[in-house]
Amino acid sequence: MVHQRILSAAPIDRIPIEILEKVAPVEISPGTDEATLLGLLDRTIAIVARGVEARINARIIEAAPELRVIGRPGAGYDTVDIAAATRRKIPVVYAPVSGFAVSEGAMALLLTLVKKIPFCDGVVKGGLWQRRYEFSTGDMAEHTLGIIGLGRIGAGLARLAQPFGMTILGYDPVVTREQAEEMAVTLVTLDELLQKSDYVSIHVPLNEQTTGLINRQRIAQMKQGAILINTARGGIVENLDVLAEALESGQLSAVGLDVFPTEPPDSSHRLFRDPRFVCAPHMLGVSTLAMERIYRSMATDMVTVLRGERPKFCVNPEVFP
Ligand code: NAD
Repeated sequence: MVHQRILSAAPIDRIPIEILEKVAPVEISPGTDEATLLGLLDRTIAIVARGVEARINARIIEAAPELRVIGRPGAGYDTVDIAAATRRKIPVVYAPVSGFAVSEGAMALLLTLVKKIPFCDGVVKGGLWQRRYEFSTGDMAEHTLGIIGLGRIGAGLARLAQPFGMTILGYDPVVTREQAEEMAVTLVTLDELLQKSDYVSIHVPLNEQTTGLINRQRIAQMKQGAILINTARGGIVENLDVLAEALESGQLSAVGLDVFPTEPPDSSHRLFRDPRFVCAPHMLGVSTLAMERIYRSMATDMVTVLRGERPKFCVNPEVFP
């Protein structure tokens, strides 16, 4: 065992290191690029696929003769070639345990925009107190929230929205009417959701069906002055131009994003100068508690696999007999 190592593609926290080092020493790769990772695979029994830029592709998976598990610290696993891992019967464990933080983040963006907090803040700090007579803030009560994707995060947002006295609409092809009712959500078509919601929040995965799902035409279907929140994946909204245009025309009254079509985004885009646009650097899902839960879950599952047992969260459970 002594000669073996667990390789992390990027720096990780003390919590997973302590858990993983019960099996083998943890080595942090000095770079996330393919060449650096390829040079560190000879004694590697496990890889922590940390960092969106660290692509654990087929070449890396095939070049690691002793590899027995890959761990992805998060709910998404698009940085790992799952088919290549499955071909080699290597379990890929992930950690879908931080959804609550994204639900909270979506609600934070929504409240910030509905209550016009950045504008209010500017009024007071800019010595413009009299402007308080020129505008009003928005409401959650008696308004309609449309949630696209009622999985862990979408359902969590619905739970957070209930106490505000909102009507909650949801669109998700795999959720039944009964399941939606349990979430106090009325299941509707995407068209109906867009037409009836004052606020729309996106919580679907990025795939062939959802790439560019929210485009010019879809935004045109929305209520005039609606608010759009995207904390899922940037590519679900066609591009930043359609958002800037919608704000300029008044079709949308505000936009909140945690995710961008390319990350980091081009912050010279005109959208970034619009005060009705509020954003975060793809970090609403990485709160202190969320990261602690993610790291603990992933490292525990990796150790479970290395000890020959079945993990709790596995992307490709078919690798087990
Ligand atoms: P989940 O798998 O629990 O739920 C996704 C839901 O979307 C499912 O119920 C699915 O049926 C539904 N869906 C799929 N395609 C759809 C479509 N075309 N139209 C409507 N619904 C559709 O996933 P989750 O944990 O709720 O996460 C949702 C997404 O949020 C993830 O895929 C990820 O991209 C994103 N995410 C972002 C962050 C962040 O830091 N901002 C963190 C975690 C996850």
